[in-house]
Amino acid sequence: MASSRLRHWLRSSWATARSTGPARAMTRCFWRSVSADEAPTSKSASTLVSLRWACCPPGPLEREKRSSISRRGRDTLRVMRIASPVPVDSRSMAAILLDIDGVFHVSGAPIAGAAGAVTQLRESGHRLRFVTNTTIRTRAALTAELVGFGVELTEDDLQTTAAAAVHALRNRRVLALTMLSVVGDLDGLDLVGEDADAVLVGGADEGDETGRVFSYMNLARAFGELQAGADLYCLHKNRWWQTSRGPLLDSGAFVAGLEYAAGVEAVVIGKPSPVYFEAALQALDADPKLAWMVGDDIEADIAGAQRFGMRTALVRTGKFRPDDLERSGITPDIVVNSLAELPDWLERAL
Ligand SMILES: [Mg+2]
Repeated sequence: MASSRLRHWLRSSWATARSTGPARAMTRCFWRSVSADEAPTSKSASTLVSLRWACCPPGPLEREKRSSISRRGRDTLRVMRIASPVPVDSRSMAAILLDIDGVFHVSGAPIAGAAGAVTQLRESGHRLRFVTNTTIRTRAALTAELVGFGVELTEDDLQTTAAAAVHALRNRRVLALTMLSVVGDLDGLDLVGEDADAVLVGGADEGDETGRVFSYMNLARAFGELQAGADLYCLHKNRWWQTSRGPLLDSGAFVAGLEYAAGVEAVVIGKPSPVYFEAALQALDADPKLAWMVGDDIEADIAGAQRFGMRTALVRTGKFRPDDLERSGITPDIVVNSLAELPDWLERAL
């Protein structure tokens, strides 16, 4: 039911204004001033521009690839410890949270050795939970994708932001700016097109749908609801993510824009929210001090987990950039070239 209501709303023209107060009256009139012809023109133009700019300039990944190959060669994989050795014991490795995007795949292309690492970790007795900020596929679809890569997991092993949103926003009227593909996981929310109690912003996708979901009209509609008193939530606030075409702008930019325009602060439901890590560790019945987070995002994965008291392993795949690590001032407990190297490191360290 939630899916059909949101689909109808996304495809429909703007609703007629309802005068429930001065602020609402003003914003509804503003929406009506945007003609129907403007939306598809603007959408097509922005899509073309974004594709062109995503493909042409050498992004950080390409620069890193070139420097990596020229300086060290492809076959010089090594584990780099950049922090003082952390005292670990077998109990400390009982729980490991694994990020997905950039750790297991980039744009659907599996990262070598990641699936085998999961098998090794399970055989060593570690408890694993897969934690993702991905907001473009349902939990079932994400599980199927990972299983297709050869990763051993069930749907119950996977924690998504959509499930956390349902928990946080149940019984509230929610205006959702999310990809249709994730709406199935929002079942249980009262998804509405107006008079919302909360605005929920999901992540961007690589396809054209992103341009439609985050169109000017939709963002203006969300702004109107915020001005009328709705709370702002986001599944995550990522600035960008790594794709096969290079770095792409993520929805954190739109969240920040709504915060700026409406003078509000968004509640982040996914990583690096402490609530998200807490839920993952509760599922494993694990103590943060005795658990590890493995990811490619220095902010959402590493800094977020450290603030929650966890140990951290940064992988040099996905969106990893040496410059980001240096600038961040954040020091993971270990940095490995990929998840494939983690099991052997743990064997040596324990
Ligand atoms: Mg990631």
